[in-house]
Order: sequence, then C-alpha cells, then structure tokens
Amino acid sequence: MTLKKTNFGKIKYRGRFAPSPSGELHFGSLLAAMASYADARHFNGQWLLRIDDIDQARVVADSDQHILSTLEQCGFEWDESVSYQSQNLKHYKMALKELHQLTVTYLCSCSRKQIQAALENSHIKNGIYPGTCRHKTSQADHQQNRDHAIRLKVSADEVCFVDLIQGEYSQNLQQDIGDFIIYRKDQVFSYQLSVVIDDFQSQITHIVRGYDLLDSTPRQIYLQQLLGYPVAQYAHIPLAVTEENLKLSKLSQAKKVDCNLETLVQAARFLGQNTLDTKDFDNKSDFWQYLVTNWDINKVPRMEKQMIMV
Ligand code: GLU
Repeated sequence: MTLKKTNFGKIKYRGRFAPSPSGELHFGSLLAAMASYADARHFNGQWLLRIDDIDQARVVADSDQHILSTLEQCGFEWDESVSYQSQNLKHYKMALKELHQLTVTYLCSCSRKQIQAALENSHIKNGIYPGTCRHKTSQADHQQNRDHAIRLKVSADEVCFVDLIQGEYSQNLQQDIGDFIIYRKDQVFSYQLSVVIDDFQSQITHIVRGYDLLDSTPRQIYLQQLLGYPVAQYAHIPLAVTEENLKLSKLSQAKKVDCNLETLVQAARFLGQNTLDTKDFDNKSDFWQYLVTNWDINKVPRMEKQMIMV
C-alpha cells in the first residue's frame, strides 16, 4: 500500500460514518451520524460516508440507497464519493498477506462446539479462543484452505487509549479477547480487519461511533500497529436503548428515522447538546449551523447507554 506512514502528516481531521446496509437508518444510527458529523465540521474537518457491506449475507437490497437518501433529507452533506467495502477487497487481501509475512496469522478449523469443550477443561475465560490451532501456520494463499478461518495471534501487552468521551480504556488482548478471526470460514474478511484497512485507506483521523464498538477498538489499534498505520482518535457515544433495555436496531424493531426538526433536536439532546429547542430554529439548516458551531464533545454523556422513547 502506498499511503503507509505512522502519523497523519498534514491531514487535519477526516471523520466518517459507516453504516451497515442491513435496514433503514434508525435513531441509533442517526446518533452516530450526527456525532461524527458535528465533531468533524466543528473542527472544519471532512466527513466521509462508507457503506459497510463486507458481509453480503446481511445486506438488505437497496438499503444503502435508503440510508443515503434519509441522511440527505436530514441535511447531512458529505465529502467525496460514497465508498463500499465490497469494492475494497484487493486491499484486504494485501493486508492479509502482510500479516502472513509477519507470521502472526494461523489457520483455524475449530468449530464453536470444539472451542467450548476446550474451554471447559481449562482456566481460560469463557468466550476466549483457547489457542488450539496456534501451532498451525497459515499460507498467503488462503484460498486453498476453504474450510478454515484465519486467526491473528495477539500479544500479552496491554493496549491502552484515551477515548474522547469514555476516557482511558485498556485491554489485555490475550486475557480479554484471545486470538481473533480476521478471515472467516465462510470466506469473508472480518469486521475488525476490514474497517482498519478502510479507515486507513480513507485517511480517517477521527472515529466517532457507538459504545458497542468500544471493546473492538483495542483489536483495531493492535492491527493498526502491526500494519504500521497511524492510530486514529476514537470517541464512543452512548447507545440508545428501548424501555426494555434493547439496543435500537433491527432486532428491537427500531423504526426508520423521520427527518424532521424534532428528531434532530431530540438526537442532539441525547448527545448532551442540551440547550436546544425546536422553536429556536426556522429550518434544518439553521439547526445544523447551530449544532456545528456549538458542538462540544465534552458534553456527550460518559455512559454506556441511555434510554430513549422513539
Ligand atoms: N458498520 C458498523 C456498524 O454499522 C460500524 C463500523 C464502525 O464504525 O467501525 O455498526
């Protein structure tokens, strides 16, 4: 890859919003879009859109177009053309090859059942891969191993970073996560690997997204370090949950965002920008101008989740 350097050089601020095209844009995703947008624009940064369609089995036909038109109706304006993960496969392949060359990958044929059985006979925390296949090697030509996943060997070092909203966060990948999958058995590049490559390719400096991805961040920083990419600045906003404590998503049947001023003001309030009132604005562009000028990430609640009635 030609862009490689371990700092962002002269690039000031490039943010992004990266929805998965698995349904309509709901209030939960509007929050991530708004927070990433307002923070980028407040610092005169650029804001890019990416459709995370790496997992084609989860793609709902035309939902990318619905998401884009809802964002447009809400008044978001993005820079550059929209990118799609499905068009970035060659870069994922190259990164995988680089990781092979670093000898930090291995083939894994374990089923969930086998992993569970191995954990029952060990002192390793539940959910953590016990390292059964660690002794196996991996070949750059993974196509020959269609019934295997590829895992990344993690180190015992602590990965620490300061989240702009949640504060200091650290993980010991070996104890807390274990060797994780970067290429799935079903021949799909993992979320962890693909987003790291995408963000690097697009020279994203700031990543503002939902709290549910906070615990993925050390894995992503670890990958950035292995591949020699600059480490981005992260901020994780609280998740919007229903009265039943369910994350707003397709599972909780979250409905499509209604792009009116009330919804935008409600989202801004959720994000702690609480001096706003619908009657203060004549129209949506008035609202955006106010939000961008007065945006203060320090006011976003330092919480995992907040309840919302939508
Ligand atoms: N596509 C992911 C999602 O919709 C977000 C990826 C990210 O922000 O890193 O949850």
